[in-house]
Amino acid sequence: MAKIPVGVLGATGMVGQQYIALLANHPWFEVRYVAASPRSAGKTYREATAGRWHATAGGDGSGGTPSVWDLVVQDANDISRALAANRAGDCAFVFSALEMGQDEIRALEEGYAAAGFPVISNASAHRWTADVPMLIAEVNPGHADIIPAQQKARGWDRGFIAVKPNCSIQSYTTPLYALIKAGYEINRIIVSTLQAVSGAGYPGPASLDLLDNIIPYIGGEEEKSEREPLKILGRVRNGAIVPAEGPAISAHCNRVPVVDGHTACVSLEFGSKKPDIGEVRRIWTEFRALPQELRFPTAPERPIIVRDEEDRPQPRKDRDADRGMAVSVGRIRPCAVFDIRFVGLSHNTIRGAAGGGILNAELLTHRGYIR
Ligand code: NAP
Repeated sequence: MAKIPVGVLGATGMVGQQYIALLANHPWFEVRYVAASPRSAGKTYREATAGRWHATAGGDGSGGTPSVWDLVVQDANDISRALAANRAGDCAFVFSALEMGQDEIRALEEGYAAAGFPVISNASAHRWTADVPMLIAEVNPGHADIIPAQQKARGWDRGFIAVKPNCSIQSYTTPLYALIKAGYEINRIIVSTLQAVSGAGYPGPASLDLLDNIIPYIGGEEEKSEREPLKILGRVRNGAIVPAEGPAISAHCNRVPVVDGHTACVSLEFGSKKPDIGEVRRIWTEFRALPQELRFPTAPERPIIVRDEEDRPQPRKDRDADRGMAVSVGRIRPCAVFDIRFVGLSHNTIRGAAGGGILNAELLTHRGYIR
């Protein structure tokens, strides 16, 4: 099968670089178009990322197919460039890893979709747009089927927008979903996140603010952590995704001096039916979903890896589990206030960003929305 040519918007940033690294040997997709800000436009990708290449995906820290390094970076604001690449057979759809004002990203992503590009986005601008699916491929793949309604309502032909959620919720949403799928209602959750510096983009907080310190505030993050799981657990109704009414989530989000890997310390309260610790452990260990059944190239073999050691998961030891795509959970124990508590961990720029976006693109290709 010929590979589908893809563009990365925001290719020079923290998430964009992980896209380049993760797609280096992808069996379905090949990066043939890169775009970023006007500051990078006109430089080769090598020049534009010189001195700020931080991608870890792919192991050796180099990453990327050799041809990517000589691509000339285009201005992501100029959609006519992407259309020219499309006519040349170099860009059938785009990953969006842009960091700009919310209104600018919203308008730009809509511009790409109106021009005929499927847009698989990491940005938060469209996460609360009712007809835009916010996908975790293991949790709500069915939400993808709102795309025809989105296209019809907006008069778009091949183009559409699909987003992935905030990186902070990845460490607990899939474990929560596995419990709900197994028949356990969850009423209330308290989560404290310990979020890595790479989550803030490059260059992130100043070292003098962060080293030897914890910053107990990340703008907008607590609202996202509390609301986004509800959309993901919601239902498609009349061309819109109606968020679930619960569980109620209270989040504390903290920036910590860790490079990659978001940790979440979670306490949760079940409804009247309460699993014991052994049952929770079994549900998470056995959890598999559509990406595993269909063997999507980026799918982790086990979406949730249960660690039995008393001091795991840890960012340095566990963030790269299954190429950074698995969520690691541990310290599953009774909670003195709610029912159980645990620690979840996931790689924020892989599972929580580029890897999650690629898995969503695999799902959307499988469903025929990306051609
Ligand atoms: P980043 O490191 O700051 O990179 C931002 C990218 O956007 C760069 O390629 C930059 O190009 C480009 N850009 C900036 N201003 C632009 C403009 N005016 N016009 C066109 N392009 C522009 O940010 P990031 O951490 O990769 O995050 C990218 C997106 O993913 C954000 O929306 C973020 O919220 C989301 N996200 C991030 C994470 C994470 O863990 N970091 C996780 C989930 C989602 P230049 O290099 O040319 O400036």
